[in-house]
Amino acid sequence: MLTTTNDRRVASLFQSIAGFFKGPSGPKCPECGSTVIGDVCPNLDCPLKVAEWLLRWCSPKAVNIPALGQAEAKQLAGLRLVLHPGELYDLGQGDWDRLDGVSAGQLAKILNQIEDSKSAKPCALLHGLRLPGVSGDLAKRLVKEFGSIAALRDAKAKSLQETDGVDESLAFGIRRWFCDSVNRQALQVLEQNGFDFVEQ
Ligand SMILES: [Zn+2]
Repeated sequence: MLTTTNDRRVASLFQSIAGFFKGPSGPKCPECGSTVIGDVCPNLDCPLKVAEWLLRWCSPKAVNIPALGQAEAKQLAGLRLVLHPGELYDLGQGDWDRLDGVSAGQLAKILNQIEDSKSAKPCALLHGLRLPGVSGDLAKRLVKEFGSIAALRDAKAKSLQETDGVDESLAFGIRRWFCDSVNRQALQVLEQNGFDFVEQ
C-alpha cells in the first residue's frame, strides 16, 4: 500500500514510463494494426497503401493493366507478394496461384497486359509511381523538362523548382520520394524489366 506522497510520485512515474513503452493509443489501422495519425495509417508498408499504389500503377493513365482489379491488388499486397509495382514483374506462377478467385482466363489477360505495360511512356510510368503532389500533367512536364526519369531521379531540388508548377515544398517532396529505399528499388526493378526511362 502506498502511504507517502513520495511513494505515489514514484508509482505515477513508473506508470507514465510503462505508458510510454506501450506506444501511442488511439484507433488502429484495420489492415496492419498501426496507430492511425489523423485518419492516415503512418506505416508505409501497410497492405492498404500498397494495394492503392498497385491500382494507381494499373490505371489507364499509368501503365494500363485493367485486368488486375481491386480484389487482386488487395490479395497481392495482403499476402506480401508485392511491396511496390516493380515486384509485379517478378511474380512467378506459384505466386499467382496463391490468389483466390482468379480464373485461368483472367490470369492470362493480366499477364499479357503486364507484358504490354513495359512499353509505357516515361510520363505514364511517373504517374503510376504516384509521387506526392505530381499530377498527370505535371508528370508530363517533368519528363519533358528533364528528358528521362533517371535525370529526374538525380535532379537537385533547386533545378526541379525551375519547372512550371513546382514550388519549394513540392521539389523537396520529389527529392524525398527518390531518396526512399523502396522507391529506389522499384525504379531499379522496372529498369531491369525493360521499362524505358527516356522520353523519345
Ligand atoms: Zn496500415
